[in-house]
Amino acid sequence: MSGEDAPKDTSACGGPDCDEKVDRLFAYLDRELATADADEVRSHIEECRPCLDEVAVDQVLKDLVKRCCQEEAPVDLKLRIRAQLTTVRVESVRVEPAG
Ligand SMILES: [Zn+2]
Repeated sequence: MSGEDAPKDTSACGGPDCDEKVDRLFAYLDRELATADADEVRSHIEECRPCLDEVAVDQVLKDLVKRCCQEEAPVDLKLRIRAQLTTVRVESVRVEPAG
């Protein structure tokens, strides 16, 4: 049973496998992963909406930090910005069109 032809079930994301990928996601964004690992993570992102979302948030965060600070921003600041971005995202999702 070689599962080379894995089914593209994007809706099934969010499991333990996805969790592991998200964990690697940030290492990938920081270019700490080997090319092979980065490739694996990237292929997962392209088929996984939740993980793609995580990447989007992190990239926006990096861009913000880059604009605001010339140098490396403190971890505390990163966490605060990230928390805010996540909150905004959740709120925008929960808002329903009136009328
Ligand atoms: Zn995923």
